[in-house]
Order: sequence, then structure tokens, then C-alpha cells
Amino acid sequence: MSAGQPTVLVVEDEPAQREVLGYNLEAEGFRVAKAENGEEALILVDEEQPDIIVLDWMLPNVSGIEVCRQLKTRPDTRNVPIIMLSARSEEVDRVRGLETGADDYVIKPYSVVELMARVRAQLRRTRPAAAGLRLEFEDIVLDAETHRVTRDGSEIKLGPTEFRLLSTLMEKPGRVWSREQLLDRVWGRDIYVDTRTVDVHIGRLRKSLTMSGGTDPLRTVRGAGYSLG
Ligand code: CA
Repeated sequence: MSAGQPTVLVVEDEPAQREVLGYNLEAEGFRVAKAENGEEALILVDEEQPDIIVLDWMLPNVSGIEVCRQLKTRPDTRNVPIIMLSARSEEVDRVRGLETGADDYVIKPYSVVELMARVRAQLRRTRPAAAGLRLEFEDIVLDAETHRVTRDGSEIKLGPTEFRLLSTLMEKPGRVWSREQLLDRVWGRDIYVDTRTVDVHIGRLRKSLTMSGGTDPLRTVRGAGYSLG
């Protein structure tokens, strides 16, 4: 996996645990951002726009609970899944009782295999294409595992960039994506690409999708960007 891979934000004050977690997530093909405390986590959430957050409960100053509570009340971060890490099961019970809105809880010491499975389970819900699932929009079907796209039953050949572009759009039909957001998601944040490149590839995608006569499912939103449907 290269661009388009989900970004995981790891928030853990214990350096060794932070590194091990980061290493394993990268080995799974994720892009990893790391924060060592709650303040840094809140800054990185804005900078990195992670797809999922693995958040330690016990952090100095701003606790994991407080970070979780803040993110779950913000409209722009509310839907980002949060997996809380906690040292004891009683803590998990307390976190649950506090209704912080965490999506899942894992008790330390955890098995890396189990944690990875929990991360993937959350992403299947929020990033289905990245998780290799099959997506449908009207008569368009995208199989993220086999990388095949069909429209009204006929196969559509797409280049790798157009494929990633379509998967991104199909994950959230109706959502308007700015060119910058599409660049981050499809090309990756670490690569510099001109925003006009997005227009070029949207044009190619549009052409491929309408080649056999179907209506154009892509919408250009003036001054805002693009959406599917
Ligand atoms: Ca800790």
C-alpha cells in the first residue's frame, strides 16, 4: 500500500510502546503519526486528519479520556474511530461509564495481533475500500480486493490513480471533497502534486465511467471540489 492508505494516530506516552505499536501498524500497511501526550494528539489530529486513533488512557496532563471526549464532541472529528488502551479492566469499565464515546477498548498488556484486528474492524466501517471491501454506488461496483470495477455489469478499466480516486469517492457518496483533500487521500500527503492534477484525473475517471453511455455520476461543485452523486 502506498498513497490512499489509512492514517493511524498513535497516542502513547511510553516511548517503547509507542514505537512497537507504530512499527506494527506500518508493517500492516498503515501510515502512522505518533503523539506522546494529549496536547500533541489534539494538534496532530488537525494536521494529519487520521482515519483512526489508538489512544492510551493514562497520559500526562491532558488524559486520554479528555482527548477522546473533546474529539467526540467536535463535528469534524466525531466520526473518527477511537480505540482506547487501558492498563486494567476496571479502568475500561470506568471509561465506559464516563461515556467518552470511544469506539473500542483494549486492555494492556494487549496482543498486537488482537489490536490490529480491532483497528481493521473499525476501518472496515469507516474506510471500506481501504479495508478491501466491495463498494456499490448505483450501478457502479468496486471490489477493493480484486481491484475490479464494473458499471451495469460491464468491466471498466481504470488506471491506479483513477481507481484510488473512485474508491475514495465511493467510500462517502455525496461528500464534497476539496482538491487538497483528494490529493492527501489519493496521492498521499508526503508528495507534492499540483491541485490541477486532480482535475486531470477526475476527467479521466469521468470518461471511463461514461464510456459505455451511462450518466456522469461525478459532480463538480464550483469553488469546493468534487463529489460522487
Ligand atoms: Ca500511559
